[in-house]
Amino acid sequence: MFFRNRKTEKGQRNEDLPESNENFPDSEKPYGLCPRCNKQSSFETIGFLPATFDSTCIVHQGGGNTKQYYDRVTSFECRNCNQPIIVLEEQYFNDKPGREGISSGAINWKGFFWWPFFNMKLDVSIPQEIQETLKEAKITYSTQCYRSSAVMSRRTLEAIASDKGESQGTLSKRIKVLIDKGILDKNLGDWATEIRLIGNHGAHYDPIKEVNKADANQIIMFIEELIKYLYVMPAEIAKRRSNK
Ligand SMILES: [Zn+2]
Repeated sequence: MFFRNRKTEKGQRNEDLPESNENFPDSEKPYGLCPRCNKQSSFETIGFLPATFDSTCIVHQGGGNTKQYYDRVTSFECRNCNQPIIVLEEQYFNDKPGREGISSGAINWKGFFWWPFFNMKLDVSIPQEIQETLKEAKITYSTQCYRSSAVMSRRTLEAIASDKGESQGTLSKRIKVLIDKGILDKNLGDWATEIRLIGNHGAHYDPIKEVNKADANQIIMFIEELIKYLYVMPAEIAKRRSNK
C-alpha cells in the first residue's frame, strides 16, 4: 500500500522521525494532522474512486475502456485512531491541475476537502453560542473557505468578549480591556496583537480581499487557546475541587 515515511526530522537520540505536517493528510503527504483524532499521525491508503471524469478514456486491446478522471475520493486509515478519513483529491501534473487540460509531467494528488470536519467535539463548559460559531469557523476552514472562516472566527471572539462583559469597541480594544481587568492572561493578549485579523477593524477590515489560509488558521488556534484558558481549565479546576 501507498505509504512514504519521510525521515527528515531528528529526535533527541539523533534518530530519524517522520516529518510533521500541520495540514491534513493527502496522497502527496500521507501524514499530518488527523481530522478525526486531532493527533499527528501517518496514514495508509484504503482505496480510491473517481469523483470527476475528464473527457478521455483508455481503450483496452481486448475491448472495453476505462474513463480517466482528475478528481478522486480517497479513503485513508489513521495509524493512531485506526479509523478511516475521506479526502477529495485533485490530480496535478508538476503542480498544475489536470482539469486545465495538462496531461504530462509527474502526477501527484492534492487534497481539497476532508471528512470528518476537524476537531468538532467541544467541551461542555463552553457556552452554546460560542460553540456554534466556532464550529462554523472550523467547518468553513475544512472546506477551504478561509474568508468565511475568518468572519466566523471574529464573530466567535466577539461572543467570548461579550460573555466576559466586553461588548463595546473594536475587537483589539476589547481584548486589551480583558487583559487590564486580569480576566485574560498577558501572554494571550500579546499573542492576540500579533494576529492580523484581530487588529483589523472597521473600514480597514475587508474579509473578501484580505484573508488567506494562514490567517484563518492562526485565528482558530488563538480562539482554542483562549477557550481553554477562559472556560475549560476553570471548569476542570472546579470539578476537581468539588470531588475532594
Ligand atoms: Zn486519527
